[in-house]
Amino acid sequence: MNDKINVLDNGYVRLVDVMGTDLTPVNAARVSYAKESQELTERDVRLIKFLAREGHTSPFRHAIAQFEIYAPLMVARQWWKYIVGSAHQEGTGDSLDAWNESSRRYITEEPVFYVPAAGEWRSAPENSKQGSGEPIDTHFGRRATEALELHVKEGLAAYTYAIENGVCAEQARLFLPAYGMYVRWYWTASLQSIAHFLAQRLEHDAQAEIQAYAKTVLTLIEARFPVSIGELLTKKEDA
Ligand SMILES: Cc1cc2nc3c(=O)[nH]c(=O)nc-3n(C[C@H](O)[C@H](O)[C@H](O)COP(=O)(O)OP(=O)(O)OC[C@H]3O[C@@H](n4cnc5c(N)ncnc54)[C@H](O)[C@@H]3O)c2cc1C
Repeated sequence: MNDKINVLDNGYVRLVDVMGTDLTPVNAARVSYAKESQELTERDVRLIKFLAREGHTSPFRHAIAQFEIYAPLMVARQWWKYIVGSAHQEGTGDSLDAWNESSRRYITEEPVFYVPAAGEWRSAPENSKQGSGEPIDTHFGRRATEALELHVKEGLAAYTYAIENGVCAEQARLFLPAYGMYVRWYWTASLQSIAHFLAQRLEHDAQAEIQAYAKTVLTLIEARFPVSIGELLTKKEDA
């Protein structure tokens, strides 16, 4: 199975590590009966459905997945709002309530930016609760792409000029167009927390860019926890 899926023009989600299978919530729920399943049976599947349906969420918190994410800063800011049962870390760490990003305070790699192609610009929405509406005319889209490319180029030139003239990296980064700049981080989260993220960010009212990342997370996590994630998300649809 491919554990790395590309998203947008330069981003990706990579499943770094997984603790548990669909048996994890089953065995966690049955621990008080001193029973342990070795293979997922129909009875186990019924138990998962029951736990998800009735909101017995703690067994789902024994399953954990770790992702490496490379996304524009605007997507990262939305993602970092998921705090409970999540850790957002660059590299390894053990806190479940802290996060870091590749901040460019120390220069580690070339800046990379998200630039929508001519056909990828969306119009302002008719309904103010939506973030965006229909695709915009590609004639203007081409101009928007060119304008953003120019903006990135000028920002990069000013950034390089500042660095070359001795300005520290932590201030020189002020010249970089930040919303579209890619940042990389690790996201380690319980299965329940991942389901909560997906329930919100697969929805049509989430920004299209984070929806694209959520679909990728769903593909990667479904392959490992097909029953549990399906049931946790079904519960949301029923609500
Ligand atoms: C479409 C959309 C638009 C949004 N727009 C904005 C915006 O304009 N501005 C903005 O700032 N944010 C916005 N958000 C982010 C949103 O407000 C949440 O911060 C984000 O979705 C994370 O969800 P959460 O708080 O449930 O997650 P977590 O903080 O991970 O919490 C998970 C769950 O734990 C429980 N929980 C958490 N803390 C407590 C507590 N103290 N006491 C009891 N229970 C608790 C709640 O049930 C919560 O749902 C938006 C989100 C979406 C999906």
